[in-house]
Amino acid sequence: MNNISGKVVVITGASSGLGEATARHLAAKGAWLVLVARRKERLDTLASEILTAGGKALALQVDVTQRSDIEQMVARTVEHFGRIDVLVSNAGLMSIAPISASKVDEWERMIDINVKGMLYGIAAALPIFEKQQTGHFINISSIAGMKVFSPGGTVYSGTKFAVRAISEGLRHEVGAHIRTTTVSPGLVDTELKFGSSHAESLAAVNEFYRQQAIPADSVARAIAYAIEQPADVDINEVILRPTVQEF
Ligand code: NDP
Repeated sequence: MNNISGKVVVITGASSGLGEATARHLAAKGAWLVLVARRKERLDTLASEILTAGGKALALQVDVTQRSDIEQMVARTVEHFGRIDVLVSNAGLMSIAPISASKVDEWERMIDINVKGMLYGIAAALPIFEKQQTGHFINISSIAGMKVFSPGGTVYSGTKFAVRAISEGLRHEVGAHIRTTTVSPGLVDTELKFGSSHAESLAAVNEFYRQQAIPADSVARAIAYAIEQPADVDINEVILRPTVQEF
């Protein structure tokens, strides 16, 4: 047994990038997946790929900014698989622009998805974890959650600092049987780099990614490492970057 096989793992943002790569990686190790995002057709394709390979997967259309969607996500998971072992709060948006451009709608979207989406997941899953006397929160922060990615990424960094702060407080408060891992990646080749509406920032970010980004399964392996530890070992923080990345 690899301590991943048979675990019920919910992944938000499983329709692309890190979430999709993590779902594939964990499915190959025998995890039972709940695939969550808004683009249902992509989730259905991934779920049928996993099912065809002999695995187990459930695709759920969820907008993480809607608390009721997240509550239903948790309820449907328990109904379908009987429990939840791991919640990977991964759905995210990175809209880069100088703060002077005042892209207030994008600030709100980043806060709603990156921070409130994670909090709704914690609120919905924690009672289940407490009842089970076991569970694992994995929250995706960023190198931008360790250093302020300015100019341009100031608000994105704010959301990722919040992810780390909340994860650490969560670990401290609910620790005895429940594990909490924060994963902070550097530049990873996904769709995240397309999230800016500010043309100049979009071009600069895409060039930065073109030069340095590493494949998404680098993060999938880090997540698997945290999950596969024995229950009395809690990997609290994982930080990983492309070797060439200076920031
Ligand atoms: P992608 O853009 O490829 O994936 C983002 C995922 O989030 C998609 O599956 C998207 O699905 C989902 N999502 C966005 N908004 C919502 C919403 N409202 N409800 C449900 N799902 C939503 O980017 P990544 O894979 O790179 O991003 C994953 C996480 O990793 C993010 O939190 C990001 O901040 C973090 N990260 C990424 C790094 C990188 O360089 N790529 C570096 C450090 C951290 P859909 O649109 O179908 O809803």
